[in-house]
Amino acid sequence: MNAPAGRFAARTVRVKAPGKVNVSLEVGPLRPDGYHSVASVYLAVSLYEEVAATSTDTPGITVSLSPESTVDLDAADIPLDGSNLAYKAAAIMADVSERSTGVHLEITKRVPVAGGMGGGSADAAATLLACDALWNSGLSREELAHLAGELGADVPFSLLGGAAVGLGVGDELSPALAKAQTYWVLVTADYGLPTPEVYRTLDRLREAGGVQAAEPVGVDPQILTALRSGDAEALSRVLVNDLQRASIELAPALRDTLGIGESHGAIAGIVSGSGPTVALLADDPVAAESLAEDLRHYGLTALSVHGPVPGARIISDTLL
Ligand code: ATP
Repeated sequence: MNAPAGRFAARTVRVKAPGKVNVSLEVGPLRPDGYHSVASVYLAVSLYEEVAATSTDTPGITVSLSPESTVDLDAADIPLDGSNLAYKAAAIMADVSERSTGVHLEITKRVPVAGGMGGGSADAAATLLACDALWNSGLSREELAHLAGELGADVPFSLLGGAAVGLGVGDELSPALAKAQTYWVLVTADYGLPTPEVYRTLDRLREAGGVQAAEPVGVDPQILTALRSGDAEALSRVLVNDLQRASIELAPALRDTLGIGESHGAIAGIVSGSGPTVALLADDPVAAESLAEDLRHYGLTALSVHGPVPGARIISDTLL
């Protein structure tokens, strides 16, 4: 129904965007610009953030967190001001849209905060798409991807979804063919690991060990072959994460989580990105569910997910 003439008609666009697991993550040495080059295979998994963007008749951007969130919002340190990644995404979209309005963003958080699964990046990707629809910005998918890259290295992937190879700082993405599903159990932690600290720890460990890391040039083709066919056994042999030992150095309990997972039927385990989420690979959905159940008996928070799943998608568009 249309609002009566002269009355502001609020509209809500709701978008969901997936979190990711790095199936492989190779990290080069610290560059003079303070970044590290990476070569990574990203996999979008079925754990989604949701952003509901509602147009407002007062200018400006406001952010709130939905009580439907499944992460512990009291424990998490999520800014609601201009430093929130969703806020930044809306601000960028307002700059490039001719007919922007004020907007309220309500975020439903399900991806663990500072968990190495790109939850904040998923919020940014969802917000880009929601504001694009709300303000009819007319941007192409490529232009949105470009704006996503300005917001953060993991944002373009949450927009794209599926599986992809990421080079550069992770933002130079090439989609990978991965039609078959793989099944994972995510063990989330009730604390976060700040990504910059994990990278600094890796640099320190390498220096202490006299290790000269090489610039990563590409990803192991066997990873892509295993993902394409959904061959979990082959994939288990090629999972790699250069950040893992730095994450374990900062949070030694991760070693126990990996051990418990592997002794309860996981065919391999890996810290996801900078951690502390651990991703355990299972043979099939039934094995994943039973592994998750076993891990809950240890008091661990375990979720079974699958991937690849599509990137950010509009799930509803309502005129209020
Ligand atoms: P990545 O793997 O991309 O480094 P992450 O999943 O480890 O990210 P996030 O949950 O994205 O970590 O957030 C890391 C930090 O960013 C948080 O501790 C928080 O202070 C800040 N932040 C900014 N915007 C958000 C947001 N929308 N959601 C969560 N955290 C946010």
